[in-house]
Amino acid sequence: MNLTGLHHITAIASDPKQNVDFYTRVLGLRFVKKSVNQDDPGTYHLYYGNYEASPGTILTFFPWPGMRRGRPGHGQAYATAYSIPAGAVDYWTGRLSDLKIKTEPTVERFGDQVITLFDPDGLRVELVASQETDSRPATPSPDVPADYALRGFQSSTLGLTDIQATAQILTGNMGYREVAQAGHRTRYTVGNGGPGTYVDLLVDPNLPHGLNGAGTIHHVAFRTPDDASHEIAHGEIASAGYHISPIIDRAYFKSIYYREPGGVLFEIATDRPGFTIDEPLESLGTHLGLPPRLEPHRAAIEAALPKLN
Ligand code: ZN
Repeated sequence: MNLTGLHHITAIASDPKQNVDFYTRVLGLRFVKKSVNQDDPGTYHLYYGNYEASPGTILTFFPWPGMRRGRPGHGQAYATAYSIPAGAVDYWTGRLSDLKIKTEPTVERFGDQVITLFDPDGLRVELVASQETDSRPATPSPDVPADYALRGFQSSTLGLTDIQATAQILTGNMGYREVAQAGHRTRYTVGNGGPGTYVDLLVDPNLPHGLNGAGTIHHVAFRTPDDASHEIAHGEIASAGYHISPIIDRAYFKSIYYREPGGVLFEIATDRPGFTIDEPLESLGTHLGLPPRLEPHRAAIEAALPKLN
């Protein structure tokens, strides 16, 4: 199958307004889509990305007010890493300290500097300052200068009790290849490689077992270009014996879901049609996006959702 890297990562949050403030004002991402959980339309589905809402930059949340906090650990995507420019470490450690954001001491990983921070629900977010070129543009933000801005995902780290079965589906059906190994961590890439493609498998006996809840990742989505490559991926995952969803039209992309053997929910999503299908690029995120089947219920859905500003 033809996978080209990470498409989006979806997490669970509690308060939606707090979530919007953190990702747009603290991290300087663009709020690119305000939609609803298609399986629970009384709940928002909030999307943050770069200006163009490009695949590989999209972090999304289901915010359930009052949701109990989960615990990142085994059987989950444990951490989500963004790529920042090599000279941006001092800026970010200073900014996060000034804003009293919880962080861990900066560490080195595969030669890169890694800042770990926690969002208001405890989600583990990493900023990776790499020597590796990342040509993706900075997201314009009134809060974060372009020289320091996040470029998009660098990697997703999966917490596992055992590497073998997960490595097998990645390197077998999904076309990933191992590129680095150190300590408990093994790194894989796909396609042209580089930031936005990496998946790290972390087999650390000190990690707790993951508990779902606010501040944890719900699923990791991989990107494939179009409907034809998506159908091929669906067929190959099904033939390999994994239980897989049918192809679901999510309006902004098509999706298939399957759980990898280590317990993490995977999705494969198409690059097309993208987030400008129901809003122009200049005004992404300003109106409530609904899939066609929910459009007749717009008034009731809008009335029931909490206000974001
Ligand atoms: Zn998804």
